[in-house]
Amino acid sequence: MIQRTPVRIEARDTSHLPEHGTNSPENQSWQTILSQSVSNPEHLLDRLKLPTETWLEGAKNGHKLFSIRVPEPFIERMEPGNPNDPLLRQVLPIADETVVLPGFVRDPLEENTAIQTTGLIRKYHSRALLMVTGQCAINCRYCFRRHFPYGEHKLSRDDRNRVITALSASPEINEVILSGGDPLAVNDRLLSQWVDLLDTVPHLKRLRIHSRLPVVIPQRVCDDMLAWLNRTRLQKVLVVHVNHPAEIDQATRDAFKRLKQAGVTLLNQSVILKGVNDNAGTLSELSEVLFDAGVLPYYLHAFDPVAGAHHFDVSDTDAASLVRQMLETLPGFLVPKLVREVPGETSKTPIPAI
Ligand SMILES: *Cc1c(COP(=O)(O)O)cnc(C)c1O
Ligand code: SF4
Repeated sequence: MIQRTPVRIEARDTSHLPEHGTNSPENQSWQTILSQSVSNPEHLLDRLKLPTETWLEGAKNGHKLFSIRVPEPFIERMEPGNPNDPLLRQVLPIADETVVLPGFVRDPLEENTAIQTTGLIRKYHSRALLMVTGQCAINCRYCFRRHFPYGEHKLSRDDRNRVITALSASPEINEVILSGGDPLAVNDRLLSQWVDLLDTVPHLKRLRIHSRLPVVIPQRVCDDMLAWLNRTRLQKVLVVHVNHPAEIDQATRDAFKRLKQAGVTLLNQSVILKGVNDNAGTLSELSEVLFDAGVLPYYLHAFDPVAGAHHFDVSDTDAASLVRQMLETLPGFLVPKLVREVPGETSKTPIPAI
C-alpha cells in the first residue's frame, strides 16, 4: 500500500498577472524555471510549511556539504506540512548527513579510474558515458556524485574533439550515453552540436540520455530539444529517474508523450531508498504508473554507500525480498532489474530476487 495520500495542489490564482499569464509555470521557459529553483534551507522549509525549530539546523548543515536545489514543479508535487513526504525526503538535508560512518565513502564507484579522456568515462564494452555537464537540475541527497566538484567543469572545443577522436578509434562502442550531472541541464544549441558530431561516427547506433529533467521540469521537453532528437540518425533511448509514483503528474505524462512521438524509447531507473520507496506496494505502483505513462522500468539500483547518505541505506537482502514480492503481483516486464554497481566489473551486477 502506498503510505502517502496524494494531495491536489490548487491551481494558483493568476488573475492579477498580465494577460496570457506569462508568469504561470506552463508558460515559463525551462531555463527560467531552473534558475528560480529553491536553493536555500529556509525557503524550502517555508515553502513546505515545516517548522524551522525542528528542521532548519540539520538542513543548514547538510546544505553546507551539498547544496539544496529543487525546481518549483517538483515542489508542487509534495504534500505541505509532511516532513516524510517521499519527494521532500529526496531533497531536504537532515541532521543524519553530517554523521560519519565507516564504509560510506566519497567515491563509492571509483569513477575517477575509468576516465578515458576529459568527459568520457568508459567501463563497459559497447558503451561509453559522455559527461556533458556537471550540473544537475535537482540535488538528490542520496546521490553518489554528491562529493564531486563537477559544477565548474565544462568541456572545451579541444576536449570535444578528443572525445570524438577517442570514440572513432573504438569501433566496439555502438552507444553513447549522455550523462552528467544532468545532460539536459545544458542548452539545446550545445546538445545539438554534440549530436551532430556523434552522428558522424559511423559505428555508433544509439544515443542514450540519462536525465531527471523531463520529470522535475517537464517544460524541458521543448521544441528545440525535439528538433535535434528528430534530426539525428541514431536510435534514441531516454532513461529517466523516478523513485516514487507521486513524481509523475500530468505535465510529466505530457512530456513523455512528446518524447515518444519523437521516436524515443523511454526507460526508468530508480534507486532503492529507505523512507522513500522501500516498500513493495510503492514500487509496484511506481511500475504501473510509469507504464501508464509509456515508460518501462529498467533498473532498480541498490544503494551506493556514499558518505552523508547512510540513512537511505536498504540492505541487499531487503531489496531482493521487495523484488520477490513485486514478481508475485506484476508481469515480468514491470519488474525492474535489481543491480549494484561494483567497481571494476564489466557490467552492473545483478542481485538475485530471494
Ligand atoms: C551504468 C553505466 C553504463 C550503462 O550500463 P547499462 O547496463 O548499459 O545500462 C555505462 N557506462 C557506465 C560507466 C555506467 O556506469
Ligand atoms: S546526478 Fe542524478 S541523482 Fe545525482 S544529483 Fe544529479 S539528478 Fe540527482
